Amino acid sequence: MPTIKSIETLIVQLPTRREHKWVGLTERIGRYLIVKMTDSDGRIGWGEAPALKDWGGEFGRYFGESTRICKTVIDSYLAPAATGLEIGNFVELHARMDAIIRGYPYSKAAVEFAAYDIAGRWLNVPVHTLLGGKARDRVPITHSIGLISIAEAREEVAKVVKEGIRTIKVKIGSDPARDIAMVDAVREAAGDAVEICVDANEGYKTPGEAVQTIRRMEKNRLKYVEQPVMGIERIAEVASRIDAPVMADESAWNAHDSIQIIQGGKVQIVSIYTTKAGGLYKAMEIGAVCRAAGIPCNVNGSIETGIGNLANVQLAAASPAVTLSCVIPVSTPADAQHGQAAGIYYEDDLLVEPMRFVEGSIVVPGGPGMGIDVDLAKIEKYRVHD
Ligand SMILES: [Mg+2]
Repeated sequence: MPTIKSIETLIVQLPTRREHKWVGLTERIGRYLIVKMTDSDGRIGWGEAPALKDWGGEFGRYFGESTRICKTVIDSYLAPAATGLEIGNFVELHARMDAIIRGYPYSKAAVEFAAYDIAGRWLNVPVHTLLGGKARDRVPITHSIGLISIAEAREEVAKVVKEGIRTIKVKIGSDPARDIAMVDAVREAAGDAVEICVDANEGYKTPGEAVQTIRRMEKNRLKYVEQPVMGIERIAEVASRIDAPVMADESAWNAHDSIQIIQGGKVQIVSIYTTKAGGLYKAMEIGAVCRAAGIPCNVNGSIETGIGNLANVQLAAASPAVTLSCVIPVSTPADAQHGQAAGIYYEDDLLVEPMRFVEGSIVVPGGPGMGIDVDLAKIEKYRVHD
């Protein structure tokens, strides 16, 4: 049986197509940590930590990770712990990583993605097969509108709806009056057939402020309201006082958090990341807990490069709980871009071919491992030394 021979780390910075910001963000998106894993037969697998130092759990419950922190954690602890382990033993991989250092789920996820990629290539199956199978052939995509001006948002929404997007997420939580006007404008630009959801990234100061603000948005038919305030109990309070379902994001990192949210009985949707949980194996656990409780989920992320997005797509394909449209960028290398905007956040990407975007959905790639090969020349082109 092949074993993990080496794990290398590097940092890339992709050029952004337009500004994409949310409440709390202090650095540019697209500067992320990449893992290159090699096995004893010479196969290569790739992983990514879309690490953000300023995005974490409520009230200090979890912490941010920067690319440099991830590099140190992986180089110093996770790589030595994982080296020598047989390919395909994800239970033992997580046991070793969790034993050597507490926390750092983004770092652990990056290593685990590379291990899944290699295992799939070894067995000649896509990663979703390793996760249990394929619950869907296509993953419907939500296009995210950051904290931009209302005029820019109108233009962007009209364009991406024309390109097939059926769900728009609007970043809010900065200023109630601005947020209400923004959601009105997005509904007007999107038309009636499109679903709209809003994400405050914990931005409202109190549950009361969130309730007052959201009630004035609800005439626009909100599919859900994501993380209006900080705190599991506080989002539950908001959920009990508005009509739209509330989604837990910053409050929901792992299966244990999801149990707490379910026990609270008010929050109706959970957002799963491949990273918050520490990898695909544990993200599937969240899906299992939520499915047992009748909680629908989406896959959400941090505007990853193609490497991390492939992991997101594989999770969305495999987890039966993921029935909602997902915030997964449509990773598209520069030579495959023709001025389209739907789901595209970067001017270029790290994959040899684009994700296939058809009728508002990403077609689940069926190739071995993560499904699409990584472009080594692009890795070198966007590599930064810092
Ligand atoms: Mg969110």
